[in-house]
Amino acid sequence: MPRAFVVVAFLSLLSTPVRSSAASPKSAAVDVRATAARFLGGALAERRGHAVVTSLTDSAGPRLAGSRGDERAVAWAVEAMRAAGLENVHTEPVTVPRWVRGVERAEVVAPVDIALHVTALGGSVATSPDGIVAEVVEVASLDELKAQAAKDPARFRGKIVLYNKSMLRTHNFEGYGTAVDVRKGGAVEAARAGAVASLIRSIGTGYHRLPHTGAMRYEAGVPQIPAGALAAEDAELVHRLLARGGAVKVRLVLTPSLAADKAASANVVGELRGREHPEEIVVIGAHLDSWDLATGALDDGAGCAIVLETARLVRTLAGARPRRTIRVVLFANEEFGLSGAFAYAEAHKAELARHVAALEADAGAGRPLGVGVAAGADAVPRLRALVDGLGTVLPGEIHATDEAAADVMPLHAAGVPVFGVEQDVSTYFDWHHTAGDTVDKIDPEELARATAAFATLTFVLADAPTTMPRATPHPLPWRPGK
Ligand SMILES: [Zn+2]
Repeated sequence: MPRAFVVVAFLSLLSTPVRSSAASPKSAAVDVRATAARFLGGALAERRGHAVVTSLTDSAGPRLAGSRGDERAVAWAVEAMRAAGLENVHTEPVTVPRWVRGVERAEVVAPVDIALHVTALGGSVATSPDGIVAEVVEVASLDELKAQAAKDPARFRGKIVLYNKSMLRTHNFEGYGTAVDVRKGGAVEAARAGAVASLIRSIGTGYHRLPHTGAMRYEAGVPQIPAGALAAEDAELVHRLLARGGAVKVRLVLTPSLAADKAASANVVGELRGREHPEEIVVIGAHLDSWDLATGALDDGAGCAIVLETARLVRTLAGARPRRTIRVVLFANEEFGLSGAFAYAEAHKAELARHVAALEADAGAGRPLGVGVAAGADAVPRLRALVDGLGTVLPGEIHATDEAAADVMPLHAAGVPVFGVEQDVSTYFDWHHTAGDTVDKIDPEELARATAAFATLTFVLADAPTTMPRATPHPLPWRPGK
């Protein structure tokens, strides 16, 4: 019984005795600097985050929304929260779309025969079982496609578009943010120009011939064409063949399907109740789902480990419960439409005014580099004052940002102040959304440092004498329509 074994081993790992009393008088002053040092010491000494990711990924497997793995992950998370000593552990229902990857194959058929490494983008429609054979037309961006189509309306008609846009390696999300538009919107623009399929160079930085999947979208009124990603090396091959002149033809077979009925999944929720203001909530989240190509250790097993370990570190090493409640939420289906994020915001609408902060860990397992703050005026200087002297645990700059992590976007839109530990993602996108996103890619020490930073930020926000200024409520740029 491998799964039972893994879960039992994991439970015994987490069930250490509480070192300090959980209850403490209201007047107790907490030495934040000493607390942060204990978090870092505890995280580094035990490096349990790595064991948590291993347990999740080995016992649940890939966790695409609505899959068996997703179901196993929900059961795992309930047990993990109980083992971490959380209270009010429960699931909240979320309905999710169920997309199933089929056969995926691509090959250059002219001027030479060479197999390509391809994967369907999440949400893509299928080709016929025999596939599409068509000439490839390469562009470097959405804008280039639009400009060329305006000049020559026949250019893309009946063709396979290849967006060959390479992603820059950066320590933050800038490289990804700049490149990812072709994954999301490439098929719509290609279809508008008359193309029969859309391929992208994988959005990633790895050279290991693994294609990167990820969500794509269709638009009402625009034909739905199949959409896939080639490994970077294969996009470069097609580019070189095109540069020689003459037609390059590709056969593309993708047979994914979207189930007619939605599936059942769940957000998994647990709490550490606050000692003074239990009704005020600091949400710390990560997403439990992953893409189907691998076990999603970096995305987002690492985030699940960071928030579960944060709860355990606060419970066992803080010396006192924080003033406010820390609520851990492992969100359903982030990858394919943010179903869990929207379901949480809807189910907790009435108490969002009492959500005083929200944080999500969804940036892999790299070391901490800084803190991003998406909140009201003065939040940055106020947080700086609170974490003064904590630089060895919570390093780097604290700065304002407009961006909230995906699962806390709906909370941010409702005015909840959002905070994030920014992590080094310079190697994250080598493996993100590929078959290589497995636990061996995680450095246990870097994950421990990220966890200690996250725990410190969480503790500071949950225990501060006053709450942070709220963000300005705003509409969300989009809502899941599937
Ligand atoms: Zn993620």
